Amino acid sequence: MVEDKKLGKDNMEKGDLEYLVLAEFYQKIEETSSRIAMTDLLVALFKQTPSNVIDKVVYLTQGKLRPDYEGVELGIAERLMMRALALALGTSVKNIENELKRIGDLGQVAQIFISKRGRVGSIIDFLGGEIKDAQRKLTVSRIYDTLLRIARASGEGSQDLKVSLLVSLLRDSSPLEAKYLLRTISGKLRLGIADMTLLDALSIAFTGSKNARDVIERAYNVHPDMGYIAKVLATEGLDGVKKIRITVGIPVLPMLAERLSKPEEILDKLGGTCMAEYKYDGERVQAHKANQKIVLFSRRLENITHHYPDVMDLVKKYIRAREAIVEGEIVAIDPDTGDMLPFQDLMHRRRKYGVKEAMEMYPVNVYLFDLLYVDGEEYIDKPLIVRRKKLEEILEPNNKLRIATYKIIDNSKDLVVFFEQAVSEGCEGIMCKSIQSNAIYQMGARGWLWIKYKRDYRYEMTDTVDLVVVGAFHGKGRRAGTYGALLMAAYSPSEDVFKTVCKVGSGFTDEDLKKLPEILDPYKIPHKHPRVISKLEADVWFVPAVVLEIIGAELTLSPLHTCALGIIEEGVGLAVRFPRFTGRYRFDKNPEQATTEKELIEMYRSQKKTTVV
Ligand code: ATP
Repeated sequence: MVEDKKLGKDNMEKGDLEYLVLAEFYQKIEETSSRIAMTDLLVALFKQTPSNVIDKVVYLTQGKLRPDYEGVELGIAERLMMRALALALGTSVKNIENELKRIGDLGQVAQIFISKRGRVGSIIDFLGGEIKDAQRKLTVSRIYDTLLRIARASGEGSQDLKVSLLVSLLRDSSPLEAKYLLRTISGKLRLGIADMTLLDALSIAFTGSKNARDVIERAYNVHPDMGYIAKVLATEGLDGVKKIRITVGIPVLPMLAERLSKPEEILDKLGGTCMAEYKYDGERVQAHKANQKIVLFSRRLENITHHYPDVMDLVKKYIRAREAIVEGEIVAIDPDTGDMLPFQDLMHRRRKYGVKEAMEMYPVNVYLFDLLYVDGEEYIDKPLIVRRKKLEEILEPNNKLRIATYKIIDNSKDLVVFFEQAVSEGCEGIMCKSIQSNAIYQMGARGWLWIKYKRDYRYEMTDTVDLVVVGAFHGKGRRAGTYGALLMAAYSPSEDVFKTVCKVGSGFTDEDLKKLPEILDPYKIPHKHPRVISKLEADVWFVPAVVLEIIGAELTLSPLHTCALGIIEEGVGLAVRFPRFTGRYRFDKNPEQATTEKELIEMYRSQKKTTVV
């Protein structure tokens, strides 16, 4: 345990804490290898921290200035820090740089230089004829407030301002303080104190035992701001913490899923019946709506509003509630076919500049799967079925912001079929969710109320296939007036028919798109060709004639396509997942020379060996 220092006590009276107390605490933490000792050190620190700076102490100890979701970046470029240190010490940047090269840690460089020279501030102030000891002391408030000013400085002249603010702190720093100050600023404090340890320590320091940990953790889950939680605890006690509720605009820690790979086990765990849902391959979003103001948070609680103005508009327009917090997955959509695209395509949207262009090139849909709060009422403790019903109630039906596709399932066979259907439509697998009465929204926890069932794609379709164009879908947007996607089929020699395996909309250049109607229209017919077997209704049908070379991510089972229907599994056929035109028109092949159904079955079976479900 850290003893209460005289210094610390003095500061408690003043309502502030010496930064030196914090620096010495950091040093001790670095020296300890036991979690219990770490907790004890934290408890002692919290106990001697005056309540009005407890939040600042907590943030600084976490190596941050504000909770992550506010996105306040603490860093200054290393170059600027070296400049500030050189100025504070009255030495050259070159000198600092040489030492940094030798030691590798600017904090330690500062510590060495300052211990050689003594506290720089004393000399400067002495020369200036003003020695006011009280002013020279570094307090937590002074450090914190200055760092916040540095972090928020922007625009013209901000670099000089940052340097001069840092110089003023360094001039008044003792060697140890300078070391930790620079480490904090460069994001290298890295004390390795987990949130759970902080919660334990807060509980012990302010309530006397770990028993209140759960209550405090719950508050942290709905308001994941450790500084704020500490402040409420220190000023209002546990009763204050109990009153912390979901606040629109502050993200809630997301519920996470466990994972199993056997459908039977999944159903067992979930009590025999579950809500199976498509597991979309996109980015999770927690959308907060407060009147007309929308804020979007990522799975890691970053504010991602800026990247998705279109999602903001959807939430604003289609969520019929004054205030709401809903969760879903943002998925990139092929603008021409409406098909879902893999996560990699969505990542084009995560850019700082050119947001509008990216929005046009990579449109998205949002698939909602949960509801946490509506108009003053928390939904986290209500069962999934109730949350889902309310979600459906407040969502105005539309094509872009939709409820995730789901099905209530009570047997493993249906679960597998649903899984294959999800995969064939571009999903990663399915999420199986408990529909029991205790199926609450478990904030921040990975539990057995949600179980993911997905596939690891160890196999890449390395071989191309030659497929026959049997139908087409009209293009939208950029592809208006031409074809958005083509319905492709494999050949079955034994039955002399063509059976569908995919809709392909990717891989076509503008030139291809212009050329396609010229090539295909001579084969247009007003109905499905008698030799074509398809469950899908195309906009336009063709005589099977034109062969194109196609590559995909892999072959999957699909209830949508007729190739190999019922051969591998009852009720489902085979599909090419994420198909793409390679650019090769196989005019050299007639349709009967296209890849056959049998070949595809063999390809599927050989890949199955390397695919782990
Ligand atoms: P985790 O989020 O469980 O730590 P992870 O980041 O590796 O794991 P996955 O294993 O892909 O992610 O699975 C969980 C993620 O699946 C969720 O965080 C969410 O983004 C996504 N997801 C897609 N569809 C759904 C759905 N219907 N319900 C819940 N989550 C879904």
